[in-house]
Amino acid sequence: MLKITKFGGSSMADAGQYRKVRDIVLSDPQRRVVVVSAAGKRDSGDHKLTDLLYLCHAHTKYGVACDPIYDMITSRYIQIRDELKLNVDLESEFAQLKKRLDDKKVSEDELVSRGEYYSAKLMAAFLDFEFVDAAHWIRFNMDGTVDKEYSYAALKKLGKGKGIVIPGFYGAMPDGRIHTFSRGGSDITGALAAAALDADVYENWTDVSGILMADPRIVDDPQPIPEVTYDELRELSYAGAQVLHEGTILPVREKGIPVNIRNTNAPEDPGTFIQENFDTETDPNRVITGITGKKDFSIITMFKRGMTSQVGVLRKVLSVLERHGVSVDFVPNGIDNVSLVVRTEAVAPCLYAVLAEIQQTVEPDRLEVLDHISVIAAVGHRMAFRPGVSGKIFAALGQAGINIRMINQGPDELNIIFGVDNRDFAAAIRVLYDSFTK
Ligand code: ASP
Repeated sequence: MLKITKFGGSSMADAGQYRKVRDIVLSDPQRRVVVVSAAGKRDSGDHKLTDLLYLCHAHTKYGVACDPIYDMITSRYIQIRDELKLNVDLESEFAQLKKRLDDKKVSEDELVSRGEYYSAKLMAAFLDFEFVDAAHWIRFNMDGTVDKEYSYAALKKLGKGKGIVIPGFYGAMPDGRIHTFSRGGSDITGALAAAALDADVYENWTDVSGILMADPRIVDDPQPIPEVTYDELRELSYAGAQVLHEGTILPVREKGIPVNIRNTNAPEDPGTFIQENFDTETDPNRVITGITGKKDFSIITMFKRGMTSQVGVLRKVLSVLERHGVSVDFVPNGIDNVSLVVRTEAVAPCLYAVLAEIQQTVEPDRLEVLDHISVIAAVGHRMAFRPGVSGKIFAALGQAGINIRMINQGPDELNIIFGVDNRDFAAAIRVLYDSFTK
């Protein structure tokens, strides 16, 4: 058995967190590959190392001295090293990097990648594992995609023997230049390592005990989701749930490797398992997997008598939005009307042009625009073919006096999506959460 463990920024924030990571890794001999992020925030007033590195680069680019920021960065790592009494010569590495930085010889990607690089150096020393540089195995193609064949083969050669620690977030271009993933990209590094080594599980350690059923800023102490399928995850993240970096999923999904989201601060919690599907489920009676939503949509509704029997009306309306580059999220319709649900932010700059063009091309009887709409999604594969779920949802909302402005359900019955007024957003999520968990 092989478990790939990836620890995010909050798990790497200070010496105390390093100790927790070490206990987790060493408590299970199957945890032989460790991927780390740069140091994250220690408290809400603190800075992420990666942000400081970006800031440092911006200073040098515009010819402003970045010394105070550079000192903040280096002293974070020196402090961790000294507190853990590690024998790692950071000073000469920092001095060399600073010299190249002053000479403008360090690219932005290289500089911002150093956060994970130093994290990995220190963690390798702390665990007595080998440091394996991500630049030595993650190879990007010239178009910025990962050359998986090359990268997997390279890690297979490097990953033999004792435990290894890999810095997340970056790899190298074919000419050796450092190249980073987008922000949050250490998750991808972990997934690539898991796929390369055909791991049995990819453990992603964070500071929450898994993906939560609802946003904790809205619902008090929401339950974690024990199991979620990839399709459900997609639905949850579409509608706003902060889960995993999108690209993370692909390498492990391709290989059928389960992902387990865990909490470094509560390692005994089982967390959330993400898989294609589950043969046996911990709680088969749990109808709703998660509830999520987003504010600030607009609904453009067009009324035209006899519309249902006319051919091409919908196409004409949709092409107006297409011409303006506005993506349409949902298209609920009635007998002689159709609504387009779009993000207000996307349509606002061209709203009057869009309305004028719809008026011209399809000559509707009436056009209406409704703003301040929130879209809420109740997601769960167990809803499919189970009568009564939407009844329960709408009854609960009705009892709470929440008016529903739009309803949409996909044929796969993976979710029920509805629109409410922005001011009912939080209440609607709470009502749903309570009605399905209590
Ligand atoms: N340190 C990088 C960031 O803050 C990558 C990561 O932590 O995943 O975006």
